[in-house]
Amino acid sequence: MSHPEKTHNKAASSLAAADVLKPSNFLRQIIESDLANGTYASRRWGGSPGDAAHHAAGQPDPAKIRTRFPPEPNGYLHIGHAKSICLNFGLARDYGGVCHLRFDDTNPEKEDTEYVNSIIDAVKWLGFEWNGAADAAPYQASDYFDFMYRAAECLIEAGHAYVDEQTPEQMRVNRGDFGKPGIDSPYRSRTPADNLARFRQMRDGLFEDGAMVLRAKIDMGSPNINMRDPAIYRIRRATHHNTGDKWCIYPMYTFAHPIEDALEQITHSICTLEFEDQRPFYDWLMARLIESGLLADPPPHQYEFARLNLTYVITSKRKLAQLVYDHKVNGWDDPRMPTIVGLRRRGYTPAALQLFAERIGVTKSDSWIDYQTLEGCLREDLELKAHRGMAVLNPVKLVLTNWDEVMGAGHLEPCTQPALPHPPEGTEPPPARHFSIGKEVWIDREDFEEVPPKGYKRLFPGNKVRLKGGYVIECTGCNKDANGLITEVLATVVPDTKSGTPGSETVKVKAAITWVGVAGGVNAEVRLYDRLFLDAQPDAGGKDFLESLNPNSLKVITAIVEPSLANALPGQNFQFERHGYFVADRVDHVQGSKPVFNLAVGLRDSWGK
Ligand code: ATP
Ligand code: MG
Repeated sequence: MSHPEKTHNKAASSLAAADVLKPSNFLRQIIESDLANGTYASRRWGGSPGDAAHHAAGQPDPAKIRTRFPPEPNGYLHIGHAKSICLNFGLARDYGGVCHLRFDDTNPEKEDTEYVNSIIDAVKWLGFEWNGAADAAPYQASDYFDFMYRAAECLIEAGHAYVDEQTPEQMRVNRGDFGKPGIDSPYRSRTPADNLARFRQMRDGLFEDGAMVLRAKIDMGSPNINMRDPAIYRIRRATHHNTGDKWCIYPMYTFAHPIEDALEQITHSICTLEFEDQRPFYDWLMARLIESGLLADPPPHQYEFARLNLTYVITSKRKLAQLVYDHKVNGWDDPRMPTIVGLRRRGYTPAALQLFAERIGVTKSDSWIDYQTLEGCLREDLELKAHRGMAVLNPVKLVLTNWDEVMGAGHLEPCTQPALPHPPEGTEPPPARHFSIGKEVWIDREDFEEVPPKGYKRLFPGNKVRLKGGYVIECTGCNKDANGLITEVLATVVPDTKSGTPGSETVKVKAAITWVGVAGGVNAEVRLYDRLFLDAQPDAGGKDFLESLNPNSLKVITAIVEPSLANALPGQNFQFERHGYFVADRVDHVQGSKPVFNLAVGLRDSWGK
């Protein structure tokens, strides 16, 4: 712990803020009661993860609570993980604690440093720092393999674990099921000395992969199947990305995870509901290793919350990987993917995801969150922050037939508009946008009707509208090609009506339309994204999620954008006025020369209707 003071200061100021701002939930109540009762007040911290002796030699723990986010580095993080990140890091922040980023890399086969790096980036991008310092290295469960091995030997010596040589099939049958108690293994009554020798031979590579396992010795008759002598170590010859070929035996997740928590002095170990039945084993293991003196007391405690289920979205790393490998999407960061890299490329902001996590809260029972809730959070964030700009997505040319006569031949009139109509209070408004109007401008086809439907207020012959930020114009008609397709809309400009000039408001109009000058307008690739699935629960009840893929989830068009948009920085968010929120693609957009924008979210929800 390199900055204990910092932790304390944060605690004082953010506790008060938490009380006022954050809606309570069962986890906050548990933590508040633990703090009030001093449940963890006696804990010590040895400055790094370690056993009981290591922490006893340290100082009183400056972190009031310790939480952790323990991803397995076997894929890219998704929106469900974002919920868990915001929850764990948010609780530590609000209660004067520290949240650990720990790679749960005890499974040698599936892990990769590509994923490790992407996870580090994702947590940072969401706005969090871990392990008590801005530059701290994340923890890795594989660094604890030596301790885990020691813990296993300790269980064996105390008669709490044995080497089982039944075949996997025998083990499965003898485990029983919900209605039927299990049957003791014939190897269960071996002496600790026998078991210890056997286990060391396992470690030393004397047996084939899968030939035997180490099991905890608990109760084959337990109503909780997880307590029927769960396997805690297996033989597996595989090169581990951190420990190489040092080990040919690896701990099982159920054994490794509580130990990781304990070595790191975690107080509140928060996981998803499917681990509820594992909690008795978690507590059993902690009690055994504390009574043997290996682990510090009090132990961490596991709490379960409902995982995020989001409509129209899949949150299984395995299934997301399938979308990538089957080329249903263009990689992990495809803007249609619910991965954090995908959401980011789509235009999602850390603030929007934090707001989402806050708004959906945590509960103890499973439910589905509406996709619109997520989109609403993005709109709410961008409404205040995204610079405005005009873009014509479905262009048709508008010719101002009297322009040369009243404005001068070839004249281009400069116009300005604010980048933000309502800059947040106390902030400097960003520089205004500059563009120009001339004889020809691009407008959206939908903004002209030769024969207007009832109530239509935009361009039709005889009607006046304002070109937003420019002049009032009066529509006079249109030109068409041989097929009847409109090639040009015709209008006249009304002099002395330029936005922001004296008297410009004297000519009243019922609508303002967006436009881009033909001179100065820049072609841009615009990627119109929609939901990836048509089914609100694409993989529920064992359904094949590939069957409900939305064939129209991506439409690529060429739009025309105003100069300020063409000059966007990659990753910059905008509101294309009247159209929605777009982001300059962080991969393909080239500032000034090759604008590429992704649709992040429409201005209002169009799916609910
Ligand atoms: P997946 O099933 O997609 O592989 P996982 O749970 O195996 O996800 P981990 O890397 O083990 O992925 O997850 C790290 C943390 O994120 C865990 O604590 C887990 O509980 C949490 N988490 C994963 N998915 C969700 C979700 N949909 N909602 C909330 N938390 C989640
Ligand atoms: Mg997992």
